Amino acid sequence: MIIDAVQMKANLEDIRGKIAAAAAKAGRKPEEVTLMAVTKTKPLEVMLALADLGLTSFGENYPDEIEEKIPSLGAYPFPVAMIGHLQSRKAKIVADRCDEFHSLDRLDIAEKMERLCAERDRILPVFLECNVGDEESKSGWHFRSDVLPDDFLADYEKIAQLPHLDIRGLMTLPPFAEDGESNRPYFIRMRKIADGLNRRGAHITQLSMGTSSDYMVAIEEGATIVRIGTALAGAREYKK
Ligand SMILES: *Cc1c(COP(=O)(O)O)cnc(C)c1O
Repeated sequence: MIIDAVQMKANLEDIRGKIAAAAAKAGRKPEEVTLMAVTKTKPLEVMLALADLGLTSFGENYPDEIEEKIPSLGAYPFPVAMIGHLQSRKAKIVADRCDEFHSLDRLDIAEKMERLCAERDRILPVFLECNVGDEESKSGWHFRSDVLPDDFLADYEKIAQLPHLDIRGLMTLPPFAEDGESNRPYFIRMRKIADGLNRRGAHITQLSMGTSSDYMVAIEEGATIVRIGTALAGAREYKK
């Protein structure tokens, strides 16, 4: 497989320019936005090439693939975050190899990760996944409006008490849209959810939202982490 480092460098320059423009539009500094490279289905060589280009944050979706590419926690000089849906039986892989867990989507997986992290004597930074489009097909806590549902608040309180999980922020993947603009209301909703939690004494400072199709709008609405795969490393090919 040929890694087109030249193409990736050009993609990266384009993305950095757009991040800066979106941040400026919102009166924010580009340094407030972290670009996470989403490298699912891409070989390790692509991650290393992106690290060479200056990328400092990586996101992976599939535990089996993490097992192949990431031999141990801290194997590479860059952090790797789990950003995909995690089945309970695969939780150990994340506890053993991932620096962060951005797709914490239910209380029982939080409790399982707490046990695994306690055994390993490590603290895991986590993001709570918010299903801001109230979609049946997606995991995470469901939101139909800016109002914080009681079940979410109850789970939040319990997770916040877990000593080996450190809630860093909220994460969302809004409904798929060709144009980013249609997702603006969802990004606004996400920010209001964070504000609502903070009014209740939480310290949510990170919003992980925005992918290749909508990261500029996400930044305008307060994203601090954008997760970009396709626009950076090209389309994904899935093995049959
Ligand atoms: C795949 C994926 C991304 C990246 O999507 P692109 O459209 O390729 O930029 C971001 N976040 C999550 C949760 C993903 O699964």
